[in-house]
Amino acid sequence: MAKIIIKNGTIATFGPENKILKDHVLVIDGEKIAQITKAGDAPLVAPGDRILDAQNKLVLPGFINTHTHFYSAFARGLKTKPAKNFTEILNNLWWRLDKKLLLEDVYASALVSCCDAIKKGTTTVFDHHASPGAVKGSLDQIAKATQKVGIKAALCYELSDRDGKTVSAQGITENQQFLERCQSDKSGILKGLFGLHASFTLRDQSLRVAQKVAEEFEAGFHVHVAEDKSDQKITLETSGLPVAERLANLGILGPKTLCAHGIHLSDHELDIIKKHDAIIIHNPQSNMNNGVGTLNLQKLADKDILFGLGTDAMTHNMLEELRSALWLQNNFHKNPSAGFDVVTKSLFINNAEICQRFFPDRVGVLAEGAAADVILMDYRSPTEMTSANVYGHAVFGFSQATVDTTIINGKIVMENKKLRDIDEDAITQWALECSRSLWQRL
Ligand SMILES: [Zn+2]
Repeated sequence: MAKIIIKNGTIATFGPENKILKDHVLVIDGEKIAQITKAGDAPLVAPGDRILDAQNKLVLPGFINTHTHFYSAFARGLKTKPAKNFTEILNNLWWRLDKKLLLEDVYASALVSCCDAIKKGTTTVFDHHASPGAVKGSLDQIAKATQKVGIKAALCYELSDRDGKTVSAQGITENQQFLERCQSDKSGILKGLFGLHASFTLRDQSLRVAQKVAEEFEAGFHVHVAEDKSDQKITLETSGLPVAERLANLGILGPKTLCAHGIHLSDHELDIIKKHDAIIIHNPQSNMNNGVGTLNLQKLADKDILFGLGTDAMTHNMLEELRSALWLQNNFHKNPSAGFDVVTKSLFINNAEICQRFFPDRVGVLAEGAAADVILMDYRSPTEMTSANVYGHAVFGFSQATVDTTIINGKIVMENKKLRDIDEDAITQWALECSRSLWQRL
């Protein structure tokens, strides 16, 4: 099989060894990284092999986004009635928009989002989807987009009782059918979870059915948890229990459950999250934008809870989210040293560990045998970069750099800043037509 040989770059391996390698080559064979070796020991080039010259470039593992919503792409610039709190954000914007999405909007918004992700070096995404007016087949539309672009994706449909019984039943079926499809998917880049909106819009009965379906497929859940105080308030009023306790009692929490946000969880609830080995996903830019509060990452670290970094669709650029997370933690603790370790861990270590619970291959690291999810960034540093300070370069240096090449699962999906096999102009034009029509229907 033809190989991809990346030479002349500075390789930052990340992962536990976290090495900076110069005068080395990285060899991709099939879907895996086959070899990282000194330039002098590089394998002979065979006919058909691709050589990528990474002069003045940094070679990194692709980034992972553990919480986003592709359909949010069509909210950009939409004028809505100003919201005074989180409930009004849902009512004035998201629940107005998602109801009117058609299947073609779902496909188009996923396509443009995936293109943007690979342009930002994001090679794996965990998407959480809602289109109550077009539930059936929506996940197939998103999968069609992720497969076309070639991005690794873990998808789910957000079950909710907010739109009545019919839509709720459709939500269960949609998750079920997609999990079935994923069981037989051989691409290696597509996975399914069972999606749940949030405790406050779900009845016990729906959660019980969801739990049964997920159990049958050994699938995890992707759910918003205590994002705003209102989730706790309504859950307590209707069930008599705080959110995490209720979800745990109904069998929703486990090692493959992604709890997005988790801001308003008590110490007792965090202990419940830890007991079930569930995962919390921090989305700092979204939390700041919605004014819902701040997640204390150090507290999660102290309790040894696995926490990752998502964007909640605010961006597809994980390094932008990383910076925002750092400023937020430092400001929250009023301590300029409070955030660095926990924030960099969330993206560079924990997101890889989270991904590993869903995808079989090692990701988030450049190592022999790991998945060939590799990016090249333009980066010339005025200071020395070592394994001891590479995260500092990430936050203050190459977070501002441009991604040149993105390789996912051994396939070059972007090269010289141009998407391969994708007509970006045509896709953008089509997305514009879809969103115009959507806005008229609102
Ligand atoms: Zn979200």
